[in-house]
Amino acid sequence: MSLSDKVVIVTGASSGIGAAIAEVLAREGAQVALVGRNVSNLEATQATLQQKYKGIKTLNVVADVTKEADLIVQQTLKKFGRIDVLVNNAGILASGPLADLDIVEFDAVLNTNLRAVVLLTKAVLPHLVKTKGAVVNVSSCAGLRPFANALIYGVSKAALDQFTKIVALELAPQGVRVNSVNPGFVQTNIHSRIGIKDEAYKTLLDRAINSHPLGRVGDVFEVAEAVAFLASSKASFTTGALFPIDGGKHNLTPR
Ligand code: NDP
Repeated sequence: MSLSDKVVIVTGASSGIGAAIAEVLAREGAQVALVGRNVSNLEATQATLQQKYKGIKTLNVVADVTKEADLIVQQTLKKFGRIDVLVNNAGILASGPLADLDIVEFDAVLNTNLRAVVLLTKAVLPHLVKTKGAVVNVSSCAGLRPFANALIYGVSKAALDQFTKIVALELAPQGVRVNSVNPGFVQTNIHSRIGIKDEAYKTLLDRAINSHPLGRVGDVFEVAEAVAFLASSKASFTTGALFPIDGGKHNLTPR
């Protein structure tokens, strides 16, 4: 897929969708900087990549994306000497209505899902200009259409989508492409991290299955394959696009 020897940064590579993205990019021959905070989970992703794709070059960057953009760039350049692709995948969830809004939670979600993306993309920018590289943001179906009880998360992802479109316009003259994938429900740790477990998770999952027109939820590798496509030269005439990977859910009218 023309990702051979490309140097790619994947944030949130220690879990779920990010780990799958790292795996698909490694399969396509990329050299991958794996970013996350949980050291043992990062090492698990790295071990999977090295076991499946012999000779693959990887780097673990233990970093908080909300605070350490420069460290991520410096460590990647020190190891690989260039940056071709940035995948802004790290993200956190929140749910609940405006009446119950916790402003600390609001700040934390906006910090991770939006502000950190802005800062890391800015830090990587000069290096992407040199390589005529690409950015792929992992947004959400919740950025494309409203969902009741997804106020903070939806606002963070809608803002991220506007960031994708604006920066795509800004960077097009320099040959840097910027796109996003917008997944529907995918089974990962993201829900348990905010305490949705057991019966509550089963109820949520059943509802999610029924609310996607294709009649099921998504798989991490379905998202990862789309990210790899947008990162590669196969998408060389695509920029500013928001690519729904959501079983058709973005076209449903909100109730
Ligand atoms: P997970 O909870 O499984 O993984 C989240 C990842 O983000 C982890 O690797 C975590 O790293 C990382 N992360 C979070 N905060 C930080 C931080 N401050 N610094 C560094 N890393 C951080 O979730 P998913 O894989 O499901 O989510 C990945 C992306 O996909 C998110 O942007 C999410 O919004 C989006 N998405 C997910 C959907 C779903 O249904 N699962 C649907 C639509 C979009 P660590 O644990 O090491 O801190």
